[in-house]
Amino acid sequence: TRLKHIRNFSIIAHIDHGKSTIADRILELTNTVSKREMQNQILDDMDIERERGITIKLNAIELEYKAKDGETYVFHLIDTPGHVDFSYEVSRSLAACEGALLIVDASQGVQAQTVSNVYLALENDLDILPVINKIDLPSADVEATKQEIEDIVGIPADDSVLVSAKTAVGIPDLLERIVTDIKPPENLIDQPVQALIFDSYYDSYKGVVLLVRVKSGILKVGDQITLMNSKKQYEILELGVHRPAEVKRSELMTGDVGFIVAGIRDISEIRVGDTITLTDNPAKSSLEGYRESNPMVYAGIYPIDNAKFPNLRESLEKLKLNDAALTFEPETSQALGFGFRCGFLGLLHMNVVQERLEREFDLDIIMTAPSVHYQVFLADGEELQVDNPSQIEDLSKVKTFKEPFVDATIMVPSEFIGSVMEITQNKRGEYQTMEYLDNNRVELKYQMPLSEIIYNYFDELKSRTKGYASLDYEISGYRESDLVKMDVLLNGEPVDALSSIVHRDVVSVRGKEIVEKLKTVIPRQQFEIPIQAAIGSKIVARSTVKSYRKNVLAKCYGGDITRKRKLLEKQKAGKKRMKAIGSVEVPQEAFMTIFGMN
Ligand code: GDP
Ligand code: MG
Repeated sequence: TRLKHIRNFSIIAHIDHGKSTIADRILELTNTVSKREMQNQILDDMDIERERGITIKLNAIELEYKAKDGETYVFHLIDTPGHVDFSYEVSRSLAACEGALLIVDASQGVQAQTVSNVYLALENDLDILPVINKIDLPSADVEATKQEIEDIVGIPADDSVLVSAKTAVGIPDLLERIVTDIKPPENLIDQPVQALIFDSYYDSYKGVVLLVRVKSGILKVGDQITLMNSKKQYEILELGVHRPAEVKRSELMTGDVGFIVAGIRDISEIRVGDTITLTDNPAKSSLEGYRESNPMVYAGIYPIDNAKFPNLRESLEKLKLNDAALTFEPETSQALGFGFRCGFLGLLHMNVVQERLEREFDLDIIMTAPSVHYQVFLADGEELQVDNPSQIEDLSKVKTFKEPFVDATIMVPSEFIGSVMEITQNKRGEYQTMEYLDNNRVELKYQMPLSEIIYNYFDELKSRTKGYASLDYEISGYRESDLVKMDVLLNGEPVDALSSIVHRDVVSVRGKEIVEKLKTVIPRQQFEIPIQAAIGSKIVARSTVKSYRKNVLAKCYGGDITRKRKLLEKQKAGKKRMKAIGSVEVPQEAFMTIFGMN
């Protein structure tokens, strides 16, 4: 039957180990994409992915492969992101597959996300095929990499496929091994339909497009379907697969991975992880969905023009269809007006959301400084859940703060142990264990505050270890810490969106950093602007933005009206991402200075 000839697999790896490039070679060797259409990392089709050279979104492609046994197989390949911030994309991809290609860079060996992605694959009961990539590099060490896969990841690696995605060596062998080593989908064609929604996006003509994996039964155009959790019913108007362009089909059967259009306009009814069944002959139960993702950091998003608040809401809803890890709820700020408190899996995720809102939805927004979630205990016994520092109205009423801690795992060549210990301890990291992975690499474990990991830790780690360190972390729980809320006053007025929560030991250092940085990013105005950092009523640091010396228009004395207009336009463009707070114009960067980012 056709089912025996289907192979569904994800490509998983640590970032930069070559997932997307291997996907390129597979598409090329199977003639799925012609030479003329081929470009590097072809599945990274979003602008942001191409500019940053990383995969952000999962991508599901159908292709055909004629194997040495003379039979033609249908592969559904799902490329996934490697960065920790997008592990939610990976976990959803895996639930749509029977197997995973585990890519390991032969010059880098096993890294932190190699391990965490294998755990995700094992949780989903997948066949794992180890693939050692970049064997063309002079620094490639295949034997050591095999040993690491066995010792650290704990799966047999003797039989690993050896490839170079750069030269295409070994890729034909890889295609054969996908056929022989990954199991076909279970034959549940005669069962009632269950199809898992693993992703979705909004198309302005078609409405919501669902990406599904059919686990049992057959779906056809014209079928009446029910989403089992939301209980909503729709008619299938169109279905098909991506190869990588959309190809329409009349049906998707058990084992297939494809898209469904059903005239869905009410976005709020759609949840990834929901199960599609037939309204007439429903399945008894829904498939196991996904764990909700837990945001790690929160930030406010505000429209620069307050009248755009409804557009922002609609855009966030549409974006959430394609980014299931994003959360948001309305909030108000004295300084910024109406906006949303948004939750993200990390700062890269946060930056990507900001960029997608601006590019795909053409919005001008201000994003406030990110904050983790705190538990705050007041003297009167009340407990506050705080993901925005301005929720603490009166610091003098706070008895204790608790903050999230993580278990952090750092893999690094042993020559850098000293540097790692130094920067980690500076971030309030508490040493747990150290283990030699082989002759020259170690795994260090630390407990440390999540807020410190987010605050530049990874960048410092990378730069102090020449890029060799890899990091993985997960929340371990909440612990009491000696924290305070720091306010920022512009022109004597506290600006709620600029407050932050900091450790008492670093109050004066951080206060100074913030006021100095703000001084450089807030443009000069007609008057002098004092900037102060304060704990309660105590000022801990101050600086001043001097006033303009000259009026810009004074230069255009006389009649040159076009020049005058040009200057005004230039000023306006410069204001694009500025928000008037009281009488002070504050640019986007100001909010990021709080977190030491820019
Ligand atoms: P991903 O993050 O796992 O998707 O990795 P990419 O496919 O984006 O590759 C990361 C980098 O490694 C890119 O610069 C690729 O050109 C490079 N690369 C991938 N495979 C190979 C290979 O086999 N040999 C060499 N020398 N470079 C490779
Ligand atoms: Mg990639």
